[in-house]
Amino acid sequence: MKLHEIQSSSQLDLAELERPALEAALRERGYESFRARQLFAWIYRRGVTDVDAMSDLPRDLRASVARDFRLTTPAIVSRERSSDGTEKFLLRLADGRQIESVFIPDTPSMTFCISTQVGCAMACAFCLTGKMGLVRNLTAGEIAGQVRVLAHAVDLHDRAFNVVLMGMGEPLHNYDATMKALRILADEHGFALPARRVTLSTVGLLPALERLAHEPVMPNLAISLHAPSDALRGELVPLNKKYGVAEIIAACKRFPLRKRSRITFEYVLLAGVNDSPADARLLAKLVAPVKSKVNLIPLNAAPGIPFERPSDEAIDRFAKIVADCGVTVSVRKSRGRDIRAACGQLIVEGQRKSPAQQLAVML
Ligand code: SAH
Repeated sequence: MKLHEIQSSSQLDLAELERPALEAALRERGYESFRARQLFAWIYRRGVTDVDAMSDLPRDLRASVARDFRLTTPAIVSRERSSDGTEKFLLRLADGRQIESVFIPDTPSMTFCISTQVGCAMACAFCLTGKMGLVRNLTAGEIAGQVRVLAHAVDLHDRAFNVVLMGMGEPLHNYDATMKALRILADEHGFALPARRVTLSTVGLLPALERLAHEPVMPNLAISLHAPSDALRGELVPLNKKYGVAEIIAACKRFPLRKRSRITFEYVLLAGVNDSPADARLLAKLVAPVKSKVNLIPLNAAPGIPFERPSDEAIDRFAKIVADCGVTVSVRKSRGRDIRAACGQLIVEGQRKSPAQQLAVML
């Protein structure tokens, strides 16, 4: 008996249930709550979706699960492997929409880069996903489901891995589903993914950032800064007109951090736009008061993106100035560029779009 994708709407979707909710649903059906722990282990740890294969569940429970529950799982449409080992997955959701997720097999740490929305509303000037506009939010089950599918596909069930919320979408613009997905992934009977292995990257939606500061379990934080002044950042990140640089830095100073943990400031380097020595000095001055590090991301160029990647010399010079100011700085290795899996290159063509969105994609 396979747990089907779409059966009847009265069925509960296991993919969307946190363990306490599954325990309650099983109790209502007369089963003890430890059965939920067993189901979580099968679904998340072992990637099993066939109830009949869940050998430690009694026969009547298996029948009840097959009748009353479904398990919605993103389907792999295609899988592309980069020369550097990075793999990009195109996944189809239950409503036919598509998203991309990336596996980055860097030893010793393996990383899944997952999406939180179909498209994105933030429209950052250099990001391909931003050209799509927001199509819809992902559900918690769809967010956590990407890890389920990828972990199974690359056979990583028994290994430690990291998750970065740096795929398509702005995680803080889909706050509740994102946090629920992180709770599902953190469940000790499922993936047991610790918060310190998760990095949430955001363009700086301040009210949601303040909310995040009060979460009981908090991921590592990366802030997409990209410019040291409002004048420049406003041109690159439209949201800056609402929440400016000073406010973001102030929120970062207040943000509670674990011991040894630091906020990462991401900075996409665009030739002749934000890569001058003066920008580097301003950036260092701006972030120095925050317990932080800077991660420089040389632009991943793409057709339709009206910017260029700086030369290696310009990148090194920028990094050196920031470092000389006493700020920890690294340059992000670009992974999977040959298959368009690198930062800001995730876009799904061929989805139904508004004429304006279609135009944006063609530009
Ligand atoms: N919405 C989140 C996650 C985005 S993707 C955020 O904005 O942080 C993760 C990083 O890739 C962000 O810092 C984003 O600005 C960056 N990025 C987007 N387009 C890029 C491109 N073309 N080249 C390099 N990095 C890019």
